[in-house]
Amino acid sequence: MRILALTLDLDDTLWPVLPALERADQELDAYLRRHHPEVARRWPIPAMRALRAQVAAERLDLAHDFTTQRHLTIRHAFAACGIAEAPIEALWEVYFAARNSVEPYPDSLPALARLAARWPLSSLTNGNADLGRTGVQRYFRHHMCARDAGAAKPDARIFLAAAEQLGADPAAILHVGDDPELDVLGARAAGLRTAWINRERHPWPAALGAPPDLDLPDLAALADWLEGQAHETVAGRA
Ligand SMILES: [Mg+2]
Repeated sequence: MRILALTLDLDDTLWPVLPALERADQELDAYLRRHHPEVARRWPIPAMRALRAQVAAERLDLAHDFTTQRHLTIRHAFAACGIAEAPIEALWEVYFAARNSVEPYPDSLPALARLAARWPLSSLTNGNADLGRTGVQRYFRHHMCARDAGAAKPDARIFLAAAEQLGADPAAILHVGDDPELDVLGARAAGLRTAWINRERHPWPAALGAPPDLDLPDLAALADWLEGQAHETVAGRA
C-alpha cells in the first residue's frame, strides 16, 4: 500500500469530543442564566438539547451543517420567549470556544508531528471543530469539513473533495478515523485506504463487511506503521 497523503478525522480520533460538547452546553447555559435568565429558565440544558434534535430532524437539508443547526436552535429558543433578535454571535462565541477546548489523547500530538513531517495531512470532519482553536493547525495542510463540502461522511463527495485538495489519487490516500461506518465504510466507498483508530479494541463489526486496511490502537501505532512502510519502500528501491 503506497500512501502519499492522509486524511484524518478529528473528534474521537485526536481527542474525546463528549467532554468538550458537555462543557459547551454548560457554558452556554451559564451565559444565558447571567444575561438572558428568562431564556435559561424556559430552555434548561435537556430542553435545549431536545430543541436542537428537533431542528436537526426538521432540517435534513442541514445534516452537513452543525453550525447552522445550532444558530437556528438559538434563534428558536429566543423566539419562543418573545425575543425576535437573538444575540447569535455572542452566544456562538461562548459555545464555540468551549467546544474547541479539547484535550488531545496523549499520543495525538507527538504522532501528528511525526506524520506531518513526512506526509501532507488534511483534516476531514463532519463536525465544526476549528483547527486553530484546538491547537492542531500547524500539522495540517488542508481542512475539509462537511459544511464546506456540502456533504457529510459517509458520503463519498467529502472524501473526493479532500483528495482533490490534496492533489492525490484517492487510492494513494489513507483515511484515519474512529467510526466504522462514517470513516471506514465512507472512505472505502470513495476509493481511499482505511485506518480504523480502535482505542477500545472492539472486534470489527461483521455486519459491515470487510475489515479496514489497518486496525490500530492509537495514532502512535499509525505513525509506526507508516514509517515502517516508508522505510521498506526506500529499502526496496535501493
Ligand atoms: Mg470521529
